Amino acid sequence: MPGLEDLYREIILDHYKNPRNRGQLEVPPAVRADGHNPLCGDEITVYVELDGDRVARVAIDGQGCSISQSSASMMSQAMTGRTTDEARALLHRFKHMMSIADHDHSDEPGEEVPLGDLEALQGVVKFPVRIKCAVLAWNTLAQALDSAAS
Ligand code: ZN
Repeated sequence: MPGLEDLYREIILDHYKNPRNRGQLEVPPAVRADGHNPLCGDEITVYVELDGDRVARVAIDGQGCSISQSSASMMSQAMTGRTTDEARALLHRFKHMMSIADHDHSDEPGEEVPLGDLEALQGVVKFPVRIKCAVLAWNTLAQALDSAAS
């Protein structure tokens, strides 16, 4: 059995207790997407405001377990200021770390993106039922970016 300390790393707890970019943004100009993880009851709303091709602001609303909320907070911090291409590369890299990226891409476009603090979430992989919690905000962000592009 992997230890719970792998799941609740200090930085994860910090983001849970002090969530970054918590709140809502006006739609429009922002876009929003809602995500739901019925296995755990996590609900996440992600707001993204683009400035041209750049992610100017991200806001997170919703409720759920500590892993889902921490991951959303860390995602919002990691995505702010990136171009949409960089955001998608980081998204791919994160999902690859979580062992759920599709492996059809032989070129692995996100492989070179440094994860930084996000590596703290790697311990979640040892708890397969929690992977959906960690990835929820990221999939919801992808939906928001898709809706902004259409
Ligand atoms: Zn959860």
